[in-house]
This record gives sequence, structure tokens and C-alpha cells, in this order.
Amino acid sequence: MQNYISDDVQKQAIQALSRLVAKPSYNTEAAPNAPFGEGIRAALDEVLKIADELGYQTYVDPEGYYGYAEIGEGAEIFGLICHVDVVPAGDIDAWKTNPFELTQKDGSLYGRGSQDDKGPTIATLFTIKALLDQGMHFNKRVRFIFGTDEEILWRGMAKYNEKEAGITMGIAPDAEFPLVYAEKGLQQSYLVGPGSDEIELDLVNAFNAVPGLANYGGPKQAEVEAALKQHGFAYEKQDGQLVVQGNSVHAMHAPEGTNAVLRLAIALADVFSGVPALEFIKQFGEDATGENILGVIKDDVSGQLTFNISSLQINAKESRMQIDLRIPVQVDHDDLIQTIVDKVAPFDMKYENFDYLEPLYVPKEGELVTTLMQAYAEVTGDTTSQPGISGGATFARTMKNSVAFGAMLTTTPDFMHQANENWPIKDMRVAMEIYAQALKNLLVD
Ligand SMILES: [Zn+2]
Repeated sequence: MQNYISDDVQKQAIQALSRLVAKPSYNTEAAPNAPFGEGIRAALDEVLKIADELGYQTYVDPEGYYGYAEIGEGAEIFGLICHVDVVPAGDIDAWKTNPFELTQKDGSLYGRGSQDDKGPTIATLFTIKALLDQGMHFNKRVRFIFGTDEEILWRGMAKYNEKEAGITMGIAPDAEFPLVYAEKGLQQSYLVGPGSDEIELDLVNAFNAVPGLANYGGPKQAEVEAALKQHGFAYEKQDGQLVVQGNSVHAMHAPEGTNAVLRLAIALADVFSGVPALEFIKQFGEDATGENILGVIKDDVSGQLTFNISSLQINAKESRMQIDLRIPVQVDHDDLIQTIVDKVAPFDMKYENFDYLEPLYVPKEGELVTTLMQAYAEVTGDTTSQPGISGGATFARTMKNSVAFGAMLTTTPDFMHQANENWPIKDMRVAMEIYAQALKNLLVD
């Protein structure tokens, strides 16, 4: 392994990380110049203070949506796209340590944000500084961009892109090594249609998960039960209700899950005729690629569309379902939406946009990906792992010519968003060495 990072540098980085972890920065009520709450604003100020102490030029958006820290010269900008917000601690009793006090235990750094994304943010901040201290000259300015609501709606990055200069190329250290060069487009929407006087349903779930349960307590239960049986769908009876059983997975893996809401709706369609939303789902079937309605939608880079229907509400006024689409990177978004509009029209249904994130796609053969992959292999000796595609989302997709690169090793246990989030100290060191090698290869002529 290369040796750009000294014990001392890593120690200083860990110290800085403890300052950042001590700012509980999950989304809370807005305050003046703190659109996502005072905790996130405090973390933003703290990371800028740390950067300032290291010699970076810093800037904070007066409204508090983002900040950045810059070092070096040149017209071109190499971006490191990070975020200072975290998810809440969750079940506090499940934690062995205080989630907002960085604690070294069993060779690891425990604390909320140690993996996602405070640890990687600090690790890269100190890595760049270490290279400059070793006398290297970069051919681009290096800019750390600190986003503030990555865990919610990405409004901080939207503001950044509205107000600030773009970057020439960059990385988001907010995933796993080696690298993600394609992330599918992410569209969340509603399908809205006529209501029904016969049946009422209020099955609401998160957009981004396949629902694992669906309750039915309405009329004609015996018939509905018989329909479930006939389809071979698993269910239980609880407190006078039918509870259809599925298998919940993340929406990006929807075809691997079993959607309990769809199963219930398919059974209901046998019992209640003439309800357009049920007719639609009957034709949609259980295929979470949308193939039965839209035909096969895929590309060679990122595979097939995933189409998750996560909720179903039917009342006298309307029917409504939430859909989560992960769109292959080379499929035209607007064409796809038009196809959906056309295909749901015969069911008397309308399409409503909720949120859209554009895809990320940086060709695998290009300089950025090959250089990063080479550095990764050089430092780790891992020459078999390949750059990947993902249905998930990192900030890399908010900037042109950017990929997700690290900071978790393939062998690092994934604790993101979980209790006892921790980053092994030796894995942090390897990550810093990979970043050092990669940035040297990219930025030093
Ligand atoms: Zn993250």
C-alpha cells in the first residue's frame, strides 16, 4: 500500500470528525438561515471551520443551503461532493455508544455519520491537504461542496446549482469502492383515477420500498379471501382483517420483492369489478418492471426499468397510487413519461409528477473512471472488482462528469442509516490512501 497518509494526519482527521459528529445534523424545523434546522446549519458551519483551519478558502450560502471549501488554482474545478446531514439516531436503545459522540471502540469509530457521510467528507478533506503539504501542485482547483439535505430532498444541491459555478469533474465519496458510474434516473409520481363507492382502501407506504404487508378490513371478506387462495397469495387473519403477506425490499430491487399491495389489489379485482385502479393493477400484474403495461424498457448500460407501486388509496372521490421508477440511463425520460400517460389513459388514470432526479452516466472507458479504477486497484490490490451501476442515488448525479467513488471498502460492513454506525479505523486509512493515489493521478501533471 502507498503511504501518503501518516498516522498523525489520520489522527487529526479523527479529531476533526469527532467535532462534526458532535453536531446532530438530522432534518428538523427550519430556522432563520437554517432551512433544514439548526443542527444541520451547525454541522455546515463546523465543517467550514475545520476546512478554514486547514487553509481552505470557505464560502457559506447566506441562506444556509450549502457551503464550499476551495484550495489551489486554475480555471477548472475538481469537485468533491459531500453532505453534512445525517439520518436521525433511530432506536437509541439499540446503540452501544452515544450516537453523537465519536467513540473509538474495538478499532472502529462509532457515531452517526461515521460512514455516511461525515467520515468520508473529513477523510477526503484531510487527504487533499496532506498531498499539498507534500509539495504536490494540482492542475485544477479543488472544491469541496457540502450539501445539507441529502437524506431528504436535495434542496441544498438544487440551490447550489442555481447560484454557483459547475465543476469540470468530480467524485462523491458517499457509497462503496470501487466506483459507481451509472445511476438510473429516479422518478416518483402518482397515478390518479376515479374513485369508487363500493370499496375503500387507504394503504400508504414509503415511495422507495416494496410494501411487505397490506390489510383489508372492508366488505366481501370471504370472497376476497377465496380470491387470495385461488391466486396462491399468502395471508393471515388478524382482528377481523385479512393481512396479505409480501416481501419488502428497496424499490431499486423491486423485481426481487413481493408486493403485498399488488397482491391484495389483484384479488380485489376479482371481487369488485369496474374499479379502474384495480383493473389497472390486474393488467400490471406482479411484474415490477412494468413490462405488462409498457413493454420491455431497458438499455445495455444499466439494465431494465423498475416500477414499484407502493401505495393504493381508493375512496368515493378518487383512487391514487404512488409509483417509484428507476429509469435506465440511456432511456429518454420524457418519452417514457409520455408512454405512461398514454398507457394509463384507457384506465381513466392520470399521471402526476412528484419528484425527479436525473440519471448519472459517465462512460466506463473515459479518463475519470479508468484513472480512479487504476488507483483503487493499485492501493488495494483488488483487480477483480468492476465499476458498477446502481438504482440508488448519490450527489454525483447532481454534477456533470462525476461518479460515486468510495469511501467504504467492499469488505467494510455496511452500517449506513443503522444503529451503531461505525467505520473501522484501518478501513478509513485504506480509503484515504486510495483517495490520495487517485487525486494525485488525476490532479498532478
Ligand atoms: Zn450519504
